Amino acid sequence: MNQPHLLIVAQLPDFLVERLQQSFICHDYFHAEDKAALLRDLGPQIKAVVGAGGTSYNETLLGALPSVEIISVFGVGYDGVPIPYCRERGIRVTHTPDVLTEDVADLALALVLMTSRRLVESNRYLHAGHWAERNFPLSNKPGGKRAGIIGLGRIGKAIAQRLEAVGMKIGYQGRTQQAVSLPYYASIIELAAWSDFLIVACPGGEGTRNIVNAEVLAALGPEGTLINIARGSIVDEAALVSALQNKGIKAAGLDVFAHEPQVPAELLRMENVVLLPHVGTSTQETRRAMAEVVVRNLTAHLAGDPLFTPVPELR
Ligand code: NAP
Repeated sequence: MNQPHLLIVAQLPDFLVERLQQSFICHDYFHAEDKAALLRDLGPQIKAVVGAGGTSYNETLLGALPSVEIISVFGVGYDGVPIPYCRERGIRVTHTPDVLTEDVADLALALVLMTSRRLVESNRYLHAGHWAERNFPLSNKPGGKRAGIIGLGRIGKAIAQRLEAVGMKIGYQGRTQQAVSLPYYASIIELAAWSDFLIVACPGGEGTRNIVNAEVLAALGPEGTLINIARGSIVDEAALVSALQNKGIKAAGLDVFAHEPQVPAELLRMENVVLLPHVGTSTQETRRAMAEVVVRNLTAHLAGDPLFTPVPELR
Protein backbone atom coordinates (compact mmCIF):
# COMPACT_ATOMS: atom_id res chain seq x y z
CA MET A 1 0.00 0.00 0.00
CA ASN A 2 1.25 3.50 -0.81
CA GLN A 3 2.01 5.40 2.37
CA PRO A 4 0.72 9.00 2.55
CA HIS A 5 3.18 11.90 2.76
CA LEU A 6 3.56 13.91 5.97
CA LEU A 7 5.32 17.24 6.54
CA ILE A 8 7.18 17.85 9.83
CA VAL A 9 7.22 21.60 10.52
CA ALA A 10 8.87 21.75 13.97
CA GLN A 11 11.66 20.12 15.92
CA LEU A 12 10.00 16.89 17.11
CA PRO A 13 11.45 14.20 19.40
CA ASP A 14 12.94 11.15 17.66
CA PHE A 15 10.44 8.80 19.33
CA LEU A 16 7.58 10.68 17.66
CA VAL A 17 9.29 10.85 14.26
CA GLU A 18 9.94 7.09 14.42
CA ARG A 19 6.25 6.44 15.11
CA LEU A 20 5.18 8.74 12.28
CA GLN A 21 7.54 6.94 9.88
CA GLN A 22 5.64 3.69 10.51
CA SER A 23 2.54 5.07 8.77
CA PHE A 24 3.78 7.97 6.62
CA ILE A 25 6.58 9.02 4.30
CA CYS A 26 7.91 11.89 6.43
CA HIS A 27 9.57 15.05 5.09
CA ASP A 28 11.48 17.31 7.47
CA TYR A 29 10.49 20.84 6.46
CA PHE A 30 11.77 22.28 9.74
CA HIS A 31 15.40 21.28 9.08
CA ALA A 32 15.25 21.57 5.25
CA GLU A 33 17.82 24.00 3.83
CA ASP A 34 15.73 24.81 0.77
CA LYS A 35 12.21 24.98 2.16
CA ALA A 36 10.77 26.54 -1.02
CA ALA A 37 12.12 23.67 -3.14
CA LEU A 38 10.70 21.09 -0.74
CA LEU A 39 7.25 22.70 -0.94
CA ARG A 40 7.45 23.06 -4.72
CA ASP A 41 8.49 19.42 -5.29
CA LEU A 42 6.45 17.66 -2.58
CA GLY A 43 3.77 20.16 -1.47
CA PRO A 44 1.02 18.71 -3.69
CA GLN A 45 1.52 15.22 -2.21
CA ILE A 46 1.38 16.19 1.48
CA LYS A 47 -1.67 14.78 3.29
CA ALA A 48 -0.73 15.53 6.93
CA VAL A 49 1.26 18.14 8.84
CA VAL A 50 2.76 17.76 12.32
CA GLY A 51 4.33 20.62 14.27
CA ALA A 52 4.56 22.02 17.78
CA GLY A 53 2.17 24.13 19.84
CA GLY A 54 4.05 27.34 19.10
CA THR A 55 4.52 26.63 15.37
CA SER A 56 3.03 29.02 12.80
CA TYR A 57 0.99 27.00 10.29
CA ASN A 58 0.41 30.08 8.17
CA GLU A 59 -1.72 30.35 5.08
CA THR A 60 1.35 30.67 2.83
CA LEU A 61 2.58 27.28 4.04
CA LEU A 62 -0.84 25.65 3.89
CA GLY A 63 -1.48 27.27 0.49
CA ALA A 64 1.46 25.25 -0.87
CA LEU A 65 -0.20 22.03 0.38
CA PRO A 66 -3.34 21.67 -1.78
CA SER A 67 -4.01 18.06 -0.68
CA VAL A 68 -3.45 18.46 3.06
CA GLU A 69 -6.21 16.83 5.11
CA ILE A 70 -5.06 17.09 8.71
CA ILE A 71 -2.80 19.16 10.99
CA SER A 72 -1.88 17.31 14.17
CA VAL A 73 -0.41 19.75 16.69
CA PHE A 74 2.11 18.32 19.17
CA GLY A 75 0.88 20.61 21.94
CA VAL A 76 -2.37 21.89 23.43
CA GLY A 77 -2.10 25.50 22.18
CA TYR A 78 -2.96 25.88 18.50
CA ASP A 79 -2.79 29.67 18.22
CA GLY A 80 -0.49 29.25 15.19
CA VAL A 81 -3.22 27.45 13.20
CA PRO A 82 -5.56 29.67 11.10
CA ILE A 83 -8.80 27.97 12.18
CA PRO A 84 -11.27 29.82 9.86
CA TYR A 85 -8.99 29.05 6.88
CA CYS A 86 -8.82 25.37 7.87
CA ARG A 87 -12.60 25.24 8.30
CA GLU A 88 -13.04 26.71 4.82
CA ARG A 89 -10.68 24.17 3.26
CA GLY A 90 -11.96 21.24 5.33
CA ILE A 91 -8.55 20.69 6.95
CA ARG A 92 -8.93 18.81 10.25
CA VAL A 93 -6.94 19.99 13.28
CA THR A 94 -6.05 18.06 16.42
CA HIS A 95 -4.06 18.92 19.57
CA THR A 96 -2.87 17.22 22.78
CA PRO A 97 -4.93 18.47 25.76
CA ASP A 98 -4.95 16.97 29.30
CA VAL A 99 -1.79 14.81 29.11
CA LEU A 100 0.41 17.87 29.67
CA THR A 101 -1.69 19.74 32.23
CA GLU A 102 0.16 18.56 35.34
CA ASP A 103 3.64 19.36 34.03
CA VAL A 104 2.71 22.90 33.07
CA ALA A 105 0.96 23.48 36.39
CA ASP A 106 4.00 22.12 38.24
CA LEU A 107 6.14 24.61 36.34
CA ALA A 108 3.86 27.51 37.33
CA LEU A 109 4.17 26.47 40.99
CA ALA A 110 7.93 26.21 40.56
CA LEU A 111 8.09 29.74 39.08
CA VAL A 112 6.04 31.10 42.00
CA LEU A 113 8.44 29.45 44.46
CA MET A 114 11.55 30.45 42.50
CA THR A 115 10.53 34.10 42.38
CA SER A 116 9.06 34.45 45.89
CA ARG A 117 11.85 32.51 47.64
CA ARG A 118 14.52 33.93 45.29
CA LEU A 119 15.81 30.40 44.67
CA VAL A 120 17.65 31.05 41.41
CA GLU A 121 19.31 34.16 42.85
CA SER A 122 20.38 32.30 46.00
CA ASN A 123 21.73 29.42 43.90
CA ARG A 124 23.83 31.90 41.90
CA TYR A 125 24.93 33.53 45.18
CA LEU A 126 26.26 30.25 46.54
CA HIS A 127 27.99 29.32 43.28
CA ALA A 128 29.67 32.73 43.22
CA GLY A 129 31.19 32.01 46.65
CA HIS A 130 29.32 34.75 48.57
CA TRP A 131 27.83 32.53 51.31
CA ALA A 132 30.93 32.65 53.52
CA GLU A 133 30.91 36.46 53.30
CA ARG A 134 27.32 36.97 54.38
CA ASN A 135 23.97 35.13 54.52
CA PHE A 136 21.66 35.49 51.52
CA PRO A 137 19.01 38.22 52.07
CA LEU A 138 15.51 37.27 53.25
CA SER A 139 12.86 36.42 50.68
CA ASN A 140 9.05 36.26 50.89
CA LYS A 141 6.65 33.48 51.84
CA PRO A 142 4.11 32.58 49.13
CA GLY A 143 1.60 31.26 51.71
CA GLY A 144 -1.12 33.83 52.44
CA LYS A 145 -0.43 35.77 49.22
CA ARG A 146 -2.97 36.25 46.42
CA ALA A 147 -2.58 34.54 43.06
CA GLY A 148 -4.73 35.83 40.19
CA ILE A 149 -5.03 33.36 37.31
CA ILE A 150 -5.87 34.63 33.82
CA GLY A 151 -7.60 31.65 32.15
CA LEU A 152 -8.98 29.08 34.59
CA GLY A 153 -8.99 26.17 32.13
CA ARG A 154 -7.41 22.73 32.47
CA ILE A 155 -3.98 24.15 33.32
CA GLY A 156 -5.33 27.15 35.27
CA LYS A 157 -7.34 24.84 37.56
CA ALA A 158 -4.34 22.56 38.13
CA ILE A 159 -2.27 25.64 39.01
CA ALA A 160 -4.98 26.77 41.46
CA GLN A 161 -4.86 23.37 43.24
CA ARG A 162 -1.10 23.55 43.61
CA LEU A 163 -1.05 27.14 44.84
CA GLU A 164 -3.84 26.43 47.34
CA ALA A 165 -1.66 23.61 48.68
CA VAL A 166 1.03 26.15 49.62
CA GLY A 167 -1.57 28.36 51.30
CA MET A 168 -2.17 30.95 48.58
CA LYS A 169 -5.54 32.63 47.94
CA ILE A 170 -6.79 32.22 44.38
CA GLY A 171 -8.83 34.52 42.13
CA TYR A 172 -9.35 34.28 38.38
CA GLN A 173 -10.35 36.05 35.21
CA GLY A 174 -11.72 34.62 31.99
CA ARG A 175 -14.32 35.51 29.40
CA THR A 176 -16.97 33.72 31.44
CA GLN A 177 -17.55 33.13 35.14
CA GLN A 178 -17.36 29.45 36.06
CA ALA A 179 -19.21 27.33 38.61
CA VAL A 180 -16.26 27.28 41.02
CA SER A 181 -15.98 28.71 44.52
CA LEU A 182 -13.19 31.15 43.66
CA PRO A 183 -13.51 34.93 43.33
CA TYR A 184 -14.10 35.94 39.69
CA TYR A 185 -12.84 39.20 38.22
CA ALA A 186 -14.41 40.28 34.95
CA SER A 187 -11.46 42.53 34.08
CA ILE A 188 -7.76 41.71 34.03
CA ILE A 189 -6.97 45.09 35.58
CA GLU A 190 -9.19 44.33 38.57
CA LEU A 191 -7.60 40.88 38.94
CA ALA A 192 -4.10 42.40 38.70
CA ALA A 193 -4.92 45.04 41.34
CA TRP A 194 -6.07 42.23 43.70
CA SER A 195 -3.09 39.94 42.99
CA ASP A 196 0.39 39.55 44.48
CA PHE A 197 1.13 37.03 41.70
CA LEU A 198 -0.55 37.42 38.32
CA ILE A 199 -0.42 34.10 36.48
CA VAL A 200 -1.04 33.89 32.73
CA ALA A 201 -2.69 30.57 31.71
CA CYS A 202 -5.03 31.47 28.82
CA PRO A 203 -4.52 30.63 25.10
CA GLY A 204 -2.36 32.79 22.82
CA GLY A 205 -3.47 34.19 19.45
CA GLU A 206 -5.05 37.41 18.25
CA GLY A 207 -7.82 37.35 20.89
CA THR A 208 -5.32 37.66 23.75
CA ARG A 209 -2.44 39.56 22.12
CA ASN A 210 -0.84 41.95 24.67
CA ILE A 211 -3.82 41.75 27.06
CA VAL A 212 -1.24 41.97 29.86
CA ASN A 213 -0.16 45.52 29.00
CA ALA A 214 1.41 48.51 30.81
CA GLU A 215 -1.89 49.34 32.51
CA VAL A 216 -2.29 45.79 33.86
CA LEU A 217 1.31 45.76 35.11
CA ALA A 218 0.77 49.13 36.82
CA ALA A 219 -2.30 47.63 38.54
CA LEU A 220 -0.20 44.64 39.67
CA GLY A 221 2.12 47.16 41.27
CA PRO A 222 5.60 47.32 42.84
CA GLU A 223 5.01 44.33 45.15
CA GLY A 224 3.55 42.18 42.35
CA THR A 225 5.09 39.33 40.36
CA LEU A 226 4.11 38.23 36.84
CA ILE A 227 4.24 34.52 35.96
CA ASN A 228 3.69 33.46 32.33
CA ILE A 229 3.51 29.79 31.37
CA ALA A 230 1.04 30.29 28.49
CA ARG A 231 2.25 32.27 25.45
CA GLY A 232 4.65 35.20 25.05
CA SER A 233 2.17 36.97 22.76
CA ILE A 234 -0.23 37.54 25.69
CA VAL A 235 2.17 39.91 27.48
CA ASP A 236 3.37 43.22 26.03
CA GLU A 237 7.05 42.33 26.38
CA ALA A 238 8.34 45.91 26.03
CA ALA A 239 5.92 47.05 28.75
CA LEU A 240 7.09 44.17 30.96
CA VAL A 241 10.77 45.09 30.51
CA SER A 242 9.98 48.70 31.31
CA ALA A 243 7.90 47.79 34.40
CA LEU A 244 10.75 45.63 35.72
CA GLN A 245 13.38 48.30 34.97
CA ASN A 246 11.34 51.01 36.73
CA LYS A 247 10.40 48.79 39.69
CA GLY A 248 6.77 49.07 38.58
CA ILE A 249 6.53 45.35 39.42
CA LYS A 250 8.77 43.32 41.71
CA ALA A 251 9.69 40.21 39.72
CA ALA A 252 8.76 37.90 36.85
CA GLY A 253 8.89 34.16 36.13
CA LEU A 254 8.65 33.40 32.42
CA ASP A 255 8.59 30.14 30.43
CA VAL A 256 7.44 31.79 27.20
CA PHE A 257 8.45 34.85 25.17
CA ALA A 258 7.06 36.98 22.36
CA HIS A 259 9.72 36.01 19.78
CA GLU A 260 11.11 32.64 20.85
CA PRO A 261 13.91 31.70 21.04
CA GLN A 262 14.85 35.40 21.28
CA VAL A 263 14.75 36.79 24.82
CA PRO A 264 15.10 40.55 25.41
CA ALA A 265 18.69 41.31 26.47
CA GLU A 266 17.42 43.51 29.33
CA LEU A 267 15.70 40.50 30.94
CA LEU A 268 18.88 38.44 30.79
CA ARG A 269 20.62 41.03 32.97
CA MET A 270 17.95 41.18 35.70
CA GLU A 271 18.38 39.35 39.01
CA ASN A 272 14.67 39.35 39.88
CA VAL A 273 13.59 37.53 36.72
CA VAL A 274 13.53 33.74 36.29
CA LEU A 275 13.71 32.73 32.63
CA LEU A 276 13.04 29.24 31.25
CA PRO A 277 13.38 28.09 27.60
CA HIS A 278 9.72 27.01 27.08
CA VAL A 279 10.04 23.78 29.07
CA GLY A 280 6.44 23.57 30.34
CA THR A 281 5.82 20.09 28.93
CA SER A 282 9.37 18.93 28.39
CA THR A 283 9.51 15.81 30.54
CA GLN A 284 10.13 12.36 29.03
CA GLU A 285 6.78 11.12 30.36
CA THR A 286 4.66 13.97 29.07
CA ARG A 287 6.31 14.35 25.67
CA ARG A 288 5.81 10.59 25.10
CA ALA A 289 2.16 10.86 26.16
CA MET A 290 1.72 13.81 23.78
CA ALA A 291 3.33 11.80 20.99
CA GLU A 292 0.80 8.99 21.58
CA VAL A 293 -2.05 11.48 21.22
CA VAL A 294 -0.61 12.80 17.92
CA VAL A 295 -0.28 9.25 16.55
CA ARG A 296 -3.73 8.24 17.80
CA ASN A 297 -5.33 11.19 15.98
CA LEU A 298 -3.47 10.49 12.73
CA THR A 299 -4.27 6.79 12.90
CA ALA A 300 -7.96 7.57 13.43
CA HIS A 301 -7.89 9.95 10.45
CA LEU A 302 -6.29 7.33 8.17
CA ALA A 303 -8.83 4.71 9.29
CA GLY A 304 -11.77 7.07 8.75
CA ASP A 305 -12.63 6.91 12.47
CA PRO A 306 -13.64 9.89 14.64
CA LEU A 307 -10.63 11.93 15.74
CA PHE A 308 -9.43 11.46 19.33
CA THR A 309 -8.83 15.12 20.24
CA PRO A 310 -9.96 17.54 17.52
CA VAL A 311 -9.70 21.23 18.47
CA PRO A 312 -13.05 22.45 19.88
CA GLU A 313 -13.80 24.85 16.99
CA LEU A 314 -13.69 22.03 14.40
CA ARG A 315 -15.44 19.24 16.31
P1 NAP B 1 -7.99 25.47 28.18
O1 NAP B 1 -8.42 24.34 29.05
O2 NAP B 1 -8.67 25.70 26.89
O3 NAP B 1 -8.09 26.80 29.09
C1 NAP B 1 -7.97 28.07 28.59
C2 NAP B 1 -8.67 29.03 29.55
O4 NAP B 1 -8.42 30.36 29.10
C3 NAP B 1 -10.16 28.83 29.64
O5 NAP B 1 -10.55 28.82 30.99
C4 NAP B 1 -10.74 30.06 28.93
O6 NAP B 1 -11.91 30.43 29.61
C5 NAP B 1 -9.63 31.09 29.12
N1 NAP B 1 -9.62 32.11 28.08
C6 NAP B 1 -9.81 31.96 26.75
N2 NAP B 1 -9.72 33.15 26.14
C7 NAP B 1 -9.48 34.06 27.11
C8 NAP B 1 -9.31 35.46 27.11
N3 NAP B 1 -9.42 36.18 25.99
N4 NAP B 1 -9.06 36.09 28.29
C9 NAP B 1 -8.97 35.37 29.43
N5 NAP B 1 -9.14 34.05 29.49
C10 NAP B 1 -9.40 33.39 28.34
O7 NAP B 1 -6.45 25.37 27.83
P2 NAP B 1 -5.27 24.72 28.71
O8 NAP B 1 -5.13 23.30 28.38
O9 NAP B 1 -5.47 25.11 30.14
O10 NAP B 1 -4.00 25.50 28.09
C11 NAP B 1 -3.89 26.90 28.24
C12 NAP B 1 -2.72 27.43 27.40
O11 NAP B 1 -1.49 27.09 28.03
C13 NAP B 1 -2.58 26.83 26.00
O12 NAP B 1 -3.45 27.48 25.08
C14 NAP B 1 -1.13 27.04 25.68
O13 NAP B 1 -0.92 28.23 24.95
C15 NAP B 1 -0.47 27.18 27.05
N6 NAP B 1 0.51 26.10 27.26
C16 NAP B 1 1.82 26.40 27.48
C17 NAP B 1 2.73 25.38 27.67
C18 NAP B 1 4.20 25.62 27.93
O14 NAP B 1 5.02 24.80 27.54
N7 NAP B 1 4.58 26.67 28.61
C19 NAP B 1 2.32 24.06 27.61
C20 NAP B 1 0.97 23.79 27.40
C21 NAP B 1 0.07 24.83 27.24
P3 NAP B 1 -13.07 31.30 28.93
O15 NAP B 1 -13.39 30.58 27.65
O16 NAP B 1 -14.16 31.32 29.94
O17 NAP B 1 -12.49 32.66 28.71
